Amino acid sequence: MIKKLSYIFGSKTKVQEIVLLLHNAKEVVRQGFYQHELEKIEKFCEENGIHLVKSEFKVLISDEETGNYSNKGIRIDKKDKREGMYFVYLSKSEQKALLAAYYELINNDKDLGRLLGYPQCCVEFFCNNFSEDNTNPKLTPTNLFTNISKREEDNVLISHFPCSSDCIRSVKIGKKNLEIIASVDGSRARELFNSLN
Ligand SMILES: [Zn+2]
Repeated sequence: MIKKLSYIFGSKTKVQEIVLLLHNAKEVVRQGFYQHELEKIEKFCEENGIHLVKSEFKVLISDEETGNYSNKGIRIDKKDKREGMYFVYLSKSEQKALLAAYYELINNDKDLGRLLGYPQCCVEFFCNNFSEDNTNPKLTPTNLFTNISKREEDNVLISHFPCSSDCIRSVKIGKKNLEIIASVDGSRARELFNSLN
């Protein structure tokens, strides 16, 4: 099921977030897409009761794969001819999707992180440790739930940068996410388990 939907969303990790949204484990999801990818995503969202709000700007990202975690990229005008990515904010609540777009637009990382369901400790860690020169602090993985070292291979359970590998709140989120993924797609859950352990 997750693999099948990845042809719409472009990766299994992105599909997982949509599954979590549909299961009410997440209130808002933020993902980056190029214009040509958006048509089928918009159609899926419409059919599944998900509101989609698209950013008013585009982002040039040097390394696409890190887009969701750290690299904020360079913001460019949506009329700019360069091939930038749009952020989309997805939620069952139109208000929350709009609010997330607004927080991002005004660079309010704290409220954006809170709305995306990231633990407070991790949001603060992110705000204090990420800068333009340091977009990817390294953490040594100690458990599968917070292991984000395989995200470029499309294997990861959480969508935020944990403040530590043992962050209790992040572990709790990762565990819950794995349970939900296992309930809809056992083979994907096994794939994650094997890759992240
Ligand atoms: Zn934390």
